Amino acid sequence: MILLNPGPVTLSERVRTALAGPDLCHREPEYAELQTRVRAGLSAVYALDATEWTSLLLTGSGTAAVEAMLASLVPADGRLVTVENGVYGERMTRMARAHGIDVVAVPHAWDAAIDLDALDTALAGAPRPASVAVVHHETTTGRRNDLAAVGAVCRRHGARLLVDAVSSFAGEPLEFEAWGVHACAATANKCLHGAPGMAFVILRRGLLADAPTPGRTLYLDLAGHARAQETESTAFTPAVPALYALDAALAELSEQGGWPARHARYAALAERVRVGLARAGIRPYLDPGVCSVVLRSYALQSGQDYARLHDGLKARGFIVYAGQGELADTLFRVSTMGAITDADVTALIDAVHDIAGARADGGSAAPASDRGAT
Ligand SMILES: *Cc1c(COP(=O)(O)O)cnc(C)c1O
Repeated sequence: MILLNPGPVTLSERVRTALAGPDLCHREPEYAELQTRVRAGLSAVYALDATEWTSLLLTGSGTAAVEAMLASLVPADGRLVTVENGVYGERMTRMARAHGIDVVAVPHAWDAAIDLDALDTALAGAPRPASVAVVHHETTTGRRNDLAAVGAVCRRHGARLLVDAVSSFAGEPLEFEAWGVHACAATANKCLHGAPGMAFVILRRGLLADAPTPGRTLYLDLAGHARAQETESTAFTPAVPALYALDAALAELSEQGGWPARHARYAALAERVRVGLARAGIRPYLDPGVCSVVLRSYALQSGQDYARLHDGLKARGFIVYAGQGELADTLFRVSTMGAITDADVTALIDAVHDIAGARADGGSAAPASDRGAT
């Protein structure tokens, strides 16, 4: 099965094989060595200076890392401003509420670009120290939010910039220093091409100095994870097989040319998908110019039924993803993360044409415009 959903991804054989590594106790030096190598490898993806930045591993999904970042890095008396233009931005507001954080949301329509004036206004009224939480690549629609612009607003207000980079880390440019990023949360099993189970937060070392004490959470408290991991230990039992896989995935990424090569690869695949779907009359939901190369959303035409498309593709060996929430009936999403080949994309396009052609022949489910003509 070829997974074209936004994580978990289709694994390479090397990463899959790594999952079956030796049984390992996390209190032994072999574990410490593995953990140290993976943490350094994560910081190295964007060539971060190890004296300024640290990577902390968590066992959990991407959501765990985002929640750890917000719960641990918003100071006790600080306000959080969340930027919402999709499911994941809205989820961060819910996380902040769950942890009793003083949060103000800046809501947007899901197809909208970030309103910088609205963010500016929200920050102007915020007590210091303020933090801003924003999603880099909003997987709901495929939009890549303009973090350079958001970072500039944050800088003007002296606010911390906390980024959900779960579906962009290793696939999109992330300029930690130039954009003024303070921390970002991500996961092993999206653009890094690892297995589900490990997630991480990369943060400026000084940030934990005014972390809330006691922490708002025990398992997700980054201060506790930092104390353990900076002394080559681990706070809790880690998902060792997933860590083996992440180690292999990081080596593979580096050998393949790092994030710039992966970005270029995704861009080429996304373009092949776009052109192929256009021949079947399926158009992108957003202008590709504002989207990531990681995932694109496509508008279903009237008469096109998502369930039929999904099931037809699944029968032919491909998994695509529905739209979320209010977009469930109007769009579907195709991601080209993971060990995907050009031939896979060609076969996907053929399969879509096959299903669309079958529909046109079938008559009853033909698009409304076609029916009108008969
Ligand atoms: C996938 C995703 C998440 C959640 O990741 P899980 O691993 O499913 O918990 C969070 N944010 C973004 C932007 C995502 O794409």
